[in-house]
Amino acid sequence: MTEHYQHRARKRFGQNFLHDAGVIDRILRAIRAKPEDRLLEIGPGQGALTQGLLNSGAQLDVVELDKDLIPILNQQFAGKDNFNLHQGDALKFDFNSLNAAPNSLRVVGNLPYNISTPLIFHLLNNAGIIRDMHFMLQKEVVERLAAGPGGGDWGRLSIMVQYHCRVEHLFNVGPGAFNPPPKVDSAIVRLVPHAVLPHPAKDHKLLERVVREAFNQRRKTLRNTLKLLLSNDEIEAAGVDGSLRPEQLDLAAFVRLADKLSEQVLQKPADI
Ligand code: SAM
Repeated sequence: MTEHYQHRARKRFGQNFLHDAGVIDRILRAIRAKPEDRLLEIGPGQGALTQGLLNSGAQLDVVELDKDLIPILNQQFAGKDNFNLHQGDALKFDFNSLNAAPNSLRVVGNLPYNISTPLIFHLLNNAGIIRDMHFMLQKEVVERLAAGPGGGDWGRLSIMVQYHCRVEHLFNVGPGAFNPPPKVDSAIVRLVPHAVLPHPAKDHKLLERVVREAFNQRRKTLRNTLKLLLSNDEIEAAGVDGSLRPEQLDLAAFVRLADKLSEQVLQKPADI
């Protein structure tokens, strides 16, 4: 890359820049952007993925927090009419300002690891405009996102993301693909919001509440951890064995518990 600007990677912005052409190409092939696509890249950095995304001909908006990277990005891409740069914090970005059609936006990012979970939740609040998301994340986080019930990886993150999305763990990426190399392994994940929620809860907030309470003490039985919310009889009436631990329950069972709780809220709203 010919650069007139020098940039030193900053830890506080989670900057680990991709430099492995093979990995970059593999990510771009997984995304398979088309000219008619509407793309949003979070944290373009020095443009490792940006160039390939623009070459697809798709309309690309990028959101970068680090002001020092803006001239580097502008120098490379400002002349392209399918490129639109926003300087700011992706966690505060108003995705509706993009005026993307429902179910159209394709979100991409080699994400700073410190913001990956809140950012995914921020995006899920706007799931209606999103077609899919491809992220580079810490491998451990991808394993939790893609986990199924029964193991130690199954928890709040898996359940709340799988409530909204189909999750695919695509491939792993070692530290050597980045400059500077991170201390952990990374992986690429694809999240596709469900067209129709497979297990809709009557009240999404109560689902969050039940899942949070249940996993606060994941070694305890449900009748123990949920006792302030639901009695053992109510748990059993939701078709759930109160002697199980939270990690043994699938998403559908958590939704049944949340729906049972919403019946209680209707009966005694002041208690919840
Ligand atoms: N996409 C580039 C690549 O693959 O080489 C850079 C990836 S680097 C892991 C993460 C990027 O996200 C950095 O450019 C960093 O400055 C940017 N970033 C960090 N926090 C951000 C935030 N809250 N909003 C937008 N960008 C952010």
